[in-house]
Amino acid sequence: MNRDKDRYYSELALKEAEQALKENTYPIGAIIVDENYNLIAKGRNRVHPNQDATAHAEIDAIRNAGHIILDAKVKREKFTIYTSLEPCPMCTGGILFANIKRVVWLLNDDLGFGGYRKIKATNAFERRFNEVELVEEPYEDLKKKQMELMGKWAMNPNNVVNLRKAVNK
Ligand SMILES: [Zn+2]
Repeated sequence: MNRDKDRYYSELALKEAEQALKENTYPIGAIIVDENYNLIAKGRNRVHPNQDATAHAEIDAIRNAGHIILDAKVKREKFTIYTSLEPCPMCTGGILFANIKRVVWLLNDDLGFGGYRKIKATNAFERRFNEVELVEEPYEDLKKKQMELMGKWAMNPNNVVNLRKAVNK
């Protein structure tokens, strides 16, 4: 574990989250690095720009990593994903499928669709989850920044709550 590099890539994930908010979609960013801390891929939420409900930041980063992710699986390399928010159930599955061995997230998601800890707590896929190191909310200041982004997102016209208000549902 390298605290400086963890911090650097956590900030990079946050930058992707900020960019996503500028694109009027969920402010979530993700970064994948290899076991030597080389940058492999960046990702961010693209649900609204791409009109794709599955275009979450972690999935975007995994897609952008392409064959490197699959090679790492063969070579048993231990990749890390940094994400600005606790992964949802879909991205938790994606992380397990991509064989990523370390997950660092900046903010727990107890209000929304945070799924990683809930699924892990059921002991389903226990062996898989046990192979993944988990680092929750390691930086208080970056946690606050992600909370601020979530607050701004709540005000965004593309937020589903606001979209529903607009059509009175
Ligand atoms: Zn997700």
